[in-house]
Amino acid sequence: MKTKKKLVIITLIIAALVALVGCSNSNKKLSENEYKRNATLASTTVSDIIYDSSKEINKGPTKTYGKVAHITIDDGPSEYTDKMVEILKNNNVNATFFMVNGNMEAFPEQVKNAVKAGNTVGFHSVSHDIHKLYKTSTSAKEEFDVCAKTFTKITGETSKVIRLPFGSKPFTPQSSYDNLVASGYKLWDWTLDTEDWKSTSPQIMANLKKYAVGDDITVLIHERKQTVAVLDDIIKYLKSQGYEILPIAQNQQEQNYWNGKLGSQN
Ligand SMILES: [Zn+2]
Repeated sequence: MKTKKKLVIITLIIAALVALVGCSNSNKKLSENEYKRNATLASTTVSDIIYDSSKEINKGPTKTYGKVAHITIDDGPSEYTDKMVEILKNNNVNATFFMVNGNMEAFPEQVKNAVKAGNTVGFHSVSHDIHKLYKTSTSAKEEFDVCAKTFTKITGETSKVIRLPFGSKPFTPQSSYDNLVASGYKLWDWTLDTEDWKSTSPQIMANLKKYAVGDDITVLIHERKQTVAVLDDIIKYLKSQGYEILPIAQNQQEQNYWNGKLGSQN
């Protein structure tokens, strides 16, 4: 009798546990990430996964859904780069830095720090002078080659993402543009000019709020004191408007005034 009673209690406990586990399993929905990972595992072999992850160009965050904002930071690196990298990191986002050759040489640690934190580094010419950039049809291309060489020397990495000083229109001649494209450079303009370089911090925020419309925006800011002061606010505002903030990826379709892709998700 004693043994039988024990058996009944044990059976009841086991039944209760089974019910509990079953219940929690059915209530537990797979998170989106888990779902994606399972789908990836199911549809690819281990060698596929190893091969994909070995392709440098596929690394880094990519657009997944919804509204996207690219924050692009021109004219650095500078004394402000590390602070900007830190603010981005604290908000768990990355940006794209378009760097000038001489500044990379002057602030190599800041270049490394930006890359290490997961940001994209692109180039912004040597001269930052439209008269020099467009002196011949290959001058601009040659300036970006110099930037690329400096970047590789500092970080051991490469980049094909570029931004022309003052944008690619109206100053850039067709021949200069063609030579950049033929060399594999991916030219990015912007959809939202905060005019931060000539604005106060509150004016920068006002410009952002006025012009942050559309599903795919590329925000232009610079490495300036008044911009650093509101970078955290800029990120938080974009997030509040439903934007996912992503760095420009090397394998991403470039968006510029020439190819009609600016502001369109692709
Ligand atoms: Zn610039």
